[in-house]
Amino acid sequence: MRVLNEQNLGLLRPEMRHGVFACEYVMNKYGEELTITWIRGGKHKEGSLHAKRRAIDGLLPGVRQAEIFGEIKDLIGPEYDLVIEEDHFHLEWDPK
Ligand SMILES: [Zn+2]
Repeated sequence: MRVLNEQNLGLLRPEMRHGVFACEYVMNKYGEELTITWIRGGKHKEGSLHAKRRAIDGLLPGVRQAEIFGEIKDLIGPEYDLVIEEDHFHLEWDPK
C-alpha cells in the first residue's frame, strides 16, 4: 500500500481502516497496489466525510476495475459507499 501527500492512516476511524484493509486485500489479489491519495487533505465536496475521518480517496486500479470494485463491495458490505469518480475512487463509512 502506498499513501501519498503525507496523509496519515492513523487518523482514520477504526471502521474506515477495515475498509482500507478490504481494498488492499482485493487489489493485491489482482496484482495492484492500493494507493491512497487523500484522507483529510485535498479538495472535497461540502459535507464530505473526509473531515470526519470516515473517507479515503485512492487511485483507480490499472486493470480489471469492475471486478476489483465488485469484490471490494462484497467484502465491505452495505455500511460503506464506494464511488468511482473520473480520476479516483472514494470510499466512506456511512452506516444508514
Ligand atoms: Zn473523497
